[in-house]
This record gives sequence, structure tokens and C-alpha cells, in this order.
Amino acid sequence: MADQVEKVKCLIVGSGPAGYSAAVYAARANLEPVLYTGEEPGGQLMITTDVENYPGYPEGIMGPQMMDDFRKQAERFGTDVRMEMITKVELNGGLHKAWSESGQEIHAKTLIISTGASAKWLGLESEKRLMNKGVSACAVCDGFFFRGQEVAIVGGGDTAAEESLYLSKLCPKVHMLVRRDELRASKIMQERVMNTENIQIHWNTEAQEILGEEEVEGVRVINNQTQEETTLPVSGFFVAIGHKPNTDIFRDFIDMDSTGYIHTDGKSTKTNVEGVFASGDAQDNVYRQAVTAAGTGCMAALDAERYLTEKGVI
Ligand code: NDP
Repeated sequence: MADQVEKVKCLIVGSGPAGYSAAVYAARANLEPVLYTGEEPGGQLMITTDVENYPGYPEGIMGPQMMDDFRKQAERFGTDVRMEMITKVELNGGLHKAWSESGQEIHAKTLIISTGASAKWLGLESEKRLMNKGVSACAVCDGFFFRGQEVAIVGGGDTAAEESLYLSKLCPKVHMLVRRDELRASKIMQERVMNTENIQIHWNTEAQEILGEEEVEGVRVINNQTQEETTLPVSGFFVAIGHKPNTDIFRDFIDMDSTGYIHTDGKSTKTNVEGVFASGDAQDNVYRQAVTAAGTGCMAALDAERYLTEKGVI
């Protein structure tokens, strides 16, 4: 347990495109940033395969490789990257206090929140029981274990589309369970899914129970229009129904909406607390892209730098 309070000019919480971009800019502006990666260093892109829409990579790049590059770039300019969580904060006025999981107390002149978002779950009891025993929220991490087997995936957004395409390369059949009669995914992803022979879309369909005790042995689904029940013989069950921002520790201090997306002021990354800035998916429920997250990370560092200049700290 560390007993000394550490004083920093700029504390960054989170290590996705937003956090690392903020770090690159903050480090180059001599803010000597300290970045806590959180529980999932690299964030959501660590569980993505090909990233084809990040400018500058004409051939695409693997998500984990991209995040490794982001981290190296942040470190190159002196960011102190720590593989740890910030578990508690107190944000009152100009002094921002934070505590790491190992007990380090940090007093930061500026705080940049880039904590991103995490996968949502359906909330079924069987989903909990069979978690990591065939139930997963990450096809890219766990799809390999189900190669040659039938699987189901819940969701109709871009994540579900992307993950079903990934699974279709490993599995003879992918059942995509969509609760409405249309997909939310972008047109190009919809077309890819529809043109993949071994993906079967079950419209108006919801999972009721995942079957099995020690491993997934099937899923009981219901058509919410006809009420017809069917059991699909799957051994893997993937959930891809969206995300929740990781902002719970800030809730007592920072204004956010009911889901937990942080409110920022106008075109800036300023929150309601002076010296605290928010970037990336923690404050964006609209665009949620790596490139937009990186952009707001840059903005947060520039806002932090301006704030410190105005305060006469740098
Ligand atoms: P979305 O919120 O876009 O989609 C969630 C999907 O899950 C919807 O089809 C929704 O249904 C469904 N859903 C939600 N809750 C339930 C539930 N309880 N039971 C059954 N189905 C449910 O989330 P995504 O993660 O797909 O995407 C998030 C953002 O990231 C989007 O902006 C997306 O475009 C982007 N993205 C981009 C990618 C890319 O460009 N390569 C890749 C992945 C994501 P309904 O439509 O009925 O609400």
C-alpha cells in the first residue's frame, strides 16, 4: 500500500484510442501525463479483428496491433502508463483526488476521463451460469473454441454483424437472433451478413434460456410475434447487444445521462467540474468510433493544457 500522495499535472483514466491520444498530446505539451489503463488495457479494440475504417491504414490493421502502436506512441513522449485501475475519485473544485487499486492516492490538477464502455448482457440467469462456459460477449476472443460447431449470436447492430461474420468463418452455422424485423447495422454490414450463406437470421426472435449446466448445449428461443418456441442446437452463445459507459466511479461528481454517458459542454470536452474533461465512448453515445474517440482524446488534452495555462500552472 503506497502511503505518499502523488501530485500530477494530468491524470488520464482509460487506455482506448481516446486515452492514448490524450496522452500523446498531453505528453508533447509537457503535462507529464500519468495514464491508468484500467482493467482492459487497450479497451474495446483489443477484442476487434480487422479495423478497416481508421484513416491511415489502407490495408486495415488488427485492433490489438493498433492499440499496441497507440501505447508505444504515448510512451515515446514520456507518458507514464500504469496497468492498473482507478477505483475511487473525489472531484471537488480545483483539486481532483483519485485512488488506484493498489492504494496510491493521486492529486491531479487536471483529469481526463477516457474510460470507454463495456459490453451489455441480456440478464438471463442461464447467461450468468454459463459465462465463459460457452457464453461470451467477444466472438473474436472466444470464437476459436467453437470452430466446427453451431453457434448463436444475439444483436442486430454493427458489432453483432461483425462478430457473426467472424464466426461464419469458423463455424458451419451461425444463428443470428434479432429482436425486431430489421437490423440496426450499417448497410454495408447488413449486405455482408445477408450474403453469407451460413448465417441464418432469426427475425423477431429472443433468447429465453441457454441450456446446459457445465457447457452450452442449446438455446431456447421464442418468436415474439407468433410466440412459437424453438430450440437451437448450439454450443456457443455470443451476446453483442451494445455497451454501457464505464463511468460509475464518477457518478457522484460528474453530470451524466441516465445510461452513464458524461455530459460535455458544447463543442469542448469540459465536464461540469472544473479541470475535468471527458473523451471517447464515456461521453459519446452517437458516433462511438475509434477515430472519433481519438479526436476527442486530442481535444481533452488541448482543453486540459489551456485550463492549466489559464490557471498559471504551466
Ligand atoms: P448498437 O446499440 O448499435 O446495437 C445493439 C443491437 O443489439 C441492436 O440491434 C439492438 O436491437 C440489440 N439489442 C439491444 N438490447 C437487446 C436485448 N436486450 N435483447 C436483444 N437484442 C438487443 O450496438 P453495437 O455494439 O452493435 O454498435 C455500437 C456502435 O459502434 C454503433 O454506432 C456501431 O455503428 C459502432 N460499430 C462500428 C463498427 C465498425 O464500423 N466496424 C463495428 C462495431 C460497432 P434494436 O435494434 O432492436 O435496438
